[in-house]
Amino acid sequence: MFSSPDALPLADRLISLRHALHREPELGLDLPRTQAKVLAALEGLPLEITRGRGLSSVTAVLRGGRPGPAVLLRGDMDALPVQEESGVAYASEIAGRMHACGHDIHTAGLVGAAHLLAGRREELAGDVVLMFQPGEEGQGGAKIMIDEGVLDAAGSRVVAAYAVHVAATALPLGLIATRAGTMLAASDTVTVTVTGQGGHGSSPHLAVDPVPALCAMVTALQTVVTRTVDAFDPAVVTVGSIHAGSAANIIPESGTLEITVRSFSAATHRAIRAGIERTLRGVADAHGVRVEIYYREDYPVTVNDPGEADFALRTARAAVGEQRVLVAPRPLAASEDFSFVLDRVPGAYLTLGAVPPGTDPATAPMNHAPQAVFDDRAVTGAAVLLASLAAARLQEGAA
Ligand SMILES: [Zn+2]
Ligand SMILES: [Zn+2]
Repeated sequence: MFSSPDALPLADRLISLRHALHREPELGLDLPRTQAKVLAALEGLPLEITRGRGLSSVTAVLRGGRPGPAVLLRGDMDALPVQEESGVAYASEIAGRMHACGHDIHTAGLVGAAHLLAGRREELAGDVVLMFQPGEEGQGGAKIMIDEGVLDAAGSRVVAAYAVHVAATALPLGLIATRAGTMLAASDTVTVTVTGQGGHGSSPHLAVDPVPALCAMVTALQTVVTRTVDAFDPAVVTVGSIHAGSAANIIPESGTLEITVRSFSAATHRAIRAGIERTLRGVADAHGVRVEIYYREDYPVTVNDPGEADFALRTARAAVGEQRVLVAPRPLAASEDFSFVLDRVPGAYLTLGAVPPGTDPATAPMNHAPQAVFDDRAVTGAAVLLASLAAARLQEGAA
């Protein structure tokens, strides 16, 4: 178990690393400079390090001094295509890119956890897999790392996995929240192409008009939510884009819809997908148009194992004090590719408040906003929390 004073000697180094990462954000699956900074920051630690093949990930295994299972800690490393307006001294030096989701803190925090855990390596009853992951923001980097073997990097399947995510809003600095069960939504993207028969606007009876079909689809889709989804297990269906036609007197040949779908349980996820596909095909039939549906399931629901969530809450309370840990009252509508990890091994996803003191958490700019500010002190906060989760979980396994 670790507490804040343990991280003090590391604080300057970790915050410098955080600032260096923040100044030079990289996007997606290919983060060569970020990877180099992480490797440099881990140098000298007794780690078995491998780099990703299909992405610039870093997997580091720390062998404990006592026998036991392996647990996994994850830190995502990618930034966002956002022009920074945070006003911090260490702001992004690359136009149009920003660490607007705080992944620079996750990366530096995981480096901090590596140092803390390595310092007590002999006490650890098992191994720790450190998962430095690119491509969280839509590219599914976690899935690629799983395919490349991160869950078995220690030689056996990890028995538990944890991730910490910082929040620029809602949670005051240092507050930790998690919950059993659903933590984050699933997100899907649906692209729909409707094709009829183009013609003259004066003679619709000689054409097959896709426009009324598209309009009927938009309204019918809302009925999928209100008529097939349990009101206590909600879903969101938003048609964010509708396009057809070029002039008033031309019936277009085709048109498109783009839809985002959020759901909070596997059952509703299945039901909403089936309902959307059925509704789109039915409306297309009624209008005599053809419909092509490209339904992409982006990230599944992020589900915390109840036992692991309970363990994480206990561990967090022991590390930072009872009054700084709370049970999240409901899931968040964001989504996460750590869900792919939690689909395969039990674990927990925790949020850590990073709102700078003096800013009202209720109105602070949220993650992904150009004005989002994440306080430096969250770096050691994340390091202590991650290291504590790994050490305590191995200790419980040994007990
Ligand atoms: Zn994000
Ligand atoms: Zn994020």
